[in-house]
Amino acid sequence: MTRPILVPVLGDQLSRNLSSLEGLTPKEAVILMMEVWDEATYVKHHKQKIVLIFSAMRHFAAELAAEGWQVDYVTLDDVHNTGSFTGEVARAVERHAPSEIRVTESGEWRVHHAMLEWEGRFPCPVSILPDTRFIATHEDFRRFAEGRKHLTMEYFYRAMRRKTGLLMRPDGKPEGGIWNLDAENRKPPKAGLSAPPAPKFAPDAITQDVIALVGERFASHFGDLEPFGWPVTRAQALAAAEAFFARRLELFGPYQDAMVHGEDDLYHSMLSTSLNCGLLDPLALCRAAEAAYREGRAPLNSVEGFIRQIIGWREYVRGFYWYTMPALAEANALAATRPLPEFFWTGATDMRCIADCIRTTREDAHAHHIQRLMVLGNFGLIAGIDPQQVADWYLAVYADAYEWVELPNVAGMVLYADGGRLATKPYAASGNYINTMSNYCGQCRYKVAEKTGPDACPFNPLYWHFMARNRRRLESNHRIGRIYATWDKMGEARQREYLEAAEAFLESLVPASPGWARYAD
Ligand SMILES: Cc1cc2nc3c(=O)[nH]c(=O)nc-3n(C[C@H](O)[C@H](O)[C@H](O)COP(=O)(O)OP(=O)(O)OC[C@H]3O[C@@H](n4cnc5c(N)ncnc54)[C@H](O)[C@@H]3O)c2cc1C
Ligand code: SF4
Repeated sequence: MTRPILVPVLGDQLSRNLSSLEGLTPKEAVILMMEVWDEATYVKHHKQKIVLIFSAMRHFAAELAAEGWQVDYVTLDDVHNTGSFTGEVARAVERHAPSEIRVTESGEWRVHHAMLEWEGRFPCPVSILPDTRFIATHEDFRRFAEGRKHLTMEYFYRAMRRKTGLLMRPDGKPEGGIWNLDAENRKPPKAGLSAPPAPKFAPDAITQDVIALVGERFASHFGDLEPFGWPVTRAQALAAAEAFFARRLELFGPYQDAMVHGEDDLYHSMLSTSLNCGLLDPLALCRAAEAAYREGRAPLNSVEGFIRQIIGWREYVRGFYWYTMPALAEANALAATRPLPEFFWTGATDMRCIADCIRTTREDAHAHHIQRLMVLGNFGLIAGIDPQQVADWYLAVYADAYEWVELPNVAGMVLYADGGRLATKPYAASGNYINTMSNYCGQCRYKVAEKTGPDACPFNPLYWHFMARNRRRLESNHRIGRIYATWDKMGEARQREYLEAAEAFLESLVPASPGWARYAD
């Protein structure tokens, strides 16, 4: 009998378009899928995130098996499970004596480096193939980045538009004559703004088994286990995409930055979990959005905004991650060292904006982009929270979080820990921004109009504390430096009030216990 090709398929590679499967027939291959403890616990992922990935893996394995593929599936509670990818590949090599191990490259630095050791360890060749589900290759990003001080996303995005032809005219110009319609996509929420709900998918028997497993084995992890409604099959993910195009895309653009208490995801697509684990193909999704524009079902600002998030930001952060790792994981350009406050895990704070964003995070393993960026992230930035603790938190709590996409957003976009390579300025904001873009402040115990004093919105003094303590680093930045003229005009007494108010607030923060994010060694 000929020796099979062993194809390990990771939990975020649940796609038939995987480079490692290309050209293979079921007769030639054994597909290895592994639920391993190390991956489920290197941070203590939200319970729903673990359910989502294990359930989607089990469904994908069942679909492949039904098509005649030989799938070797190792469950978490298999008594022989070694708990690591390398350990499980080693056991599979003993079981199948493969002629080759063929795998699509991992999305994460840590796993990629473990894979690089397989060649020397196993008695057969190991082929690590590029992940062709992404539009930009590592080489594309390197070519874009080399020689640039600031890696402005806009220029990368235009290259991706040209590469894919998305929203391009035959004369090589962008559709509508303008590349980026972000200026039309910043509407504050009007009173009563409410979006049609995104579909939720009732757990089937496979998902229920995983829910039981996670309830038992991961009880100390953050987040509500149920109700669970994420798509776990390609068919469900396609149905969720259809629903987004039919009900939400039209107003996705204008209200992209709006936040409304009780309307957790507004017009956002909720498709990141399916994109990131492989159930949806990013390019196909963008082509469907483009078709909605060309057929007059959605306006250009919404469609361009949606496509930009995917072929712009999503591709860009992935390129940025591989270009800047491993330094990015250690970056701390603003020397921020404050521990993450306990309320990031409990939600127990009087700041209504933060409490609401943490509630939706706990209930759904999701918060939308502006909640992540301008409420939670902004707080982390202006309060000077240690970037590694912030990154652990984001990686643990969101169902769509994998380090390649989470870390550039946290260290680069939110915390400016990379010294401004990703973002041209820190996204620091006072309470005024949150008040303009949300309805949170009206019923908050703090008063957004008050600048200092016991009832003042904490974002107000923290903003000035941030600007003042980082003056040396930020003053020469032409996008933010002007603000120091306002600060200087305030006079010393007012400045002191801001600084003392901020310091009193920072002193009052209770640090999170380490057991929330990670298991003790
Ligand atoms: C601090 C911080 C951490 C984040 N961590 C993650 C993460 O771990 N995983 C993740 O997928 N996204 C992350 N994002 C980006 C973004 O917030 C989520 O992709 C989005 O909220 C997912 O919801 P959605 O599918 O409804 O997105 P939509 O608003 O509908 O956007 C459509 C798609 O665009 C992509 N996208 C949009 N913005 C970004 C971005 N900045 N980076 C990468 N892709 C983007 C996503 O695939 C998303 O599904 C983070 C953003 C911030 C500010
Ligand atoms: S007043 Fe300040 S703390 Fe309260 S919701 Fe508004 S921005 Fe948040």
